[in-house]
Amino acid sequence: MNQSLKLTCFGAAGEVTGSKHLIETPAGSRILLDCGMFQGRREIATEKNCCFGFDPSTIDAVLLSHAHIDHSGLLPKLGKEGYDGPIYTSKGTQSLSEPMLLDSAHIQQEDERFVHKHHIESPIEKKVPLYDEDDVIKVLKQFVGKPYDERFRLTDDVDAILHDAGHVFGSEIIVLFIKTPEGERKLVFTGDLGRPNMPIIQDPTLVDEADFLICESTYGDRMHERVAEIEDDLKSIVTRTAKRGGKILIPAFALERTQEIILRLENLIHKRDIPGLRIYVDSPLAGKLTQVFEQHPEYYDEEMKKRSEEHGKVFSFANLDFTESVDESKKLNDLRGPAIIIAGSGMCENGRIRHHLKNHIEDPMSSILIVGYQAEETLGRKLVKGEKRVRILGREYDVKAELHVFTSLSAHADMNDLDAYVKHIRGLKKIFLVHGEETSRQAFAKRVEAFYPGAEVILPEPKMTYEMA
Ligand SMILES: [Zn+2]
Ligand SMILES: [Zn+2]
Repeated sequence: MNQSLKLTCFGAAGEVTGSKHLIETPAGSRILLDCGMFQGRREIATEKNCCFGFDPSTIDAVLLSHAHIDHSGLLPKLGKEGYDGPIYTSKGTQSLSEPMLLDSAHIQQEDERFVHKHHIESPIEKKVPLYDEDDVIKVLKQFVGKPYDERFRLTDDVDAILHDAGHVFGSEIIVLFIKTPEGERKLVFTGDLGRPNMPIIQDPTLVDEADFLICESTYGDRMHERVAEIEDDLKSIVTRTAKRGGKILIPAFALERTQEIILRLENLIHKRDIPGLRIYVDSPLAGKLTQVFEQHPEYYDEEMKKRSEEHGKVFSFANLDFTESVDESKKLNDLRGPAIIIAGSGMCENGRIRHHLKNHIEDPMSSILIVGYQAEETLGRKLVKGEKRVRILGREYDVKAELHVFTSLSAHADMNDLDAYVKHIRGLKKIFLVHGEETSRQAFAKRVEAFYPGAEVILPEPKMTYEMA
């Protein structure tokens, strides 16, 4: 034991996606927290996803915080390039990862076809796909599903516990207990931190004390609206669009956001606050993930547990349709009158939502509801910024549909939630802020320095190594 305890962030450092944090222990263990994909515009993301910056075969253990692709999406590539050890995560995340990673492989195959079809010659574009379905099936065998709140051994010098992060179904806060010459040190990685009182899942677990914290900072400089305001906004937009006879398009992440929107809409229909429109979930991935939810009611909060005990399937009611095949999806083009279409992808960069946007974005009777985080340079971000002319599937369109941005439906802690979470942890010596754009994590850092004067706040740069102790 002559080395120090070190952290190197290979992604999500000064940006949101690509979460990958390498911990090197004094005894020489190399633990990887998350192995996420960089997301955003294809050309930029592909370049960043090509090389890890470390040798996968040198890693001793991997822990995965949740099933979002920006945290899990490069695991098949990690396996393909030499990592054959265990990938510890919750049982919920394990079950969700199969459809999530297979979908990721599928999107890359589509990208490859696009590159071929358009004879794109740049060397970066030729790097897709990063992996295929066989690589996914192989790496899934390395997953080890663990229950929450039980300590387990990772390596001779490191133990771990997973706690509920309250971010998405099965998400975890990862705690490491690391042997050092000075005694055991406790490191907490928040993964993506949820917020209290979200529908479907439990609240984030508080940690009472730790030595080191790697904390997300997505909304480090912003507050979310109150939930009551969301319902009011949803009610008025849906009602007004239905009256006009338009479509309500909701680009949504297939994991959690889609299920949350379904429940909120069902609730409003049930209360007769909105008309009983048909709701189409045009995402085969969302359909599969929803099935995983139904199979694991142990991850539900009390309200949902009660609901599932009383009604059996929670995500099944008369107005709701999950469309599977491409033909079923195409039939939605001929729908007459008002309807709600929820489809992926959440950032509008790929998936079936592009076809629905293409059909309705120039229709002033229709509405587009943005309900999730939109990375820079994505079509979703352009809509949020109010751009009046956008490119979809190779053609330009005028944005004439009514656009509404819901910031409050976030599955992330806002600035107040983040402050409260950090303040609750006693004894922190170093706090590393990751998973946030630069302005967001700088604002968060200033506040933490003020309310936690005993700790050093560090904003890690990508691929730079920092000593913890
Ligand atoms: Zn996430
Ligand atoms: Zn994330």
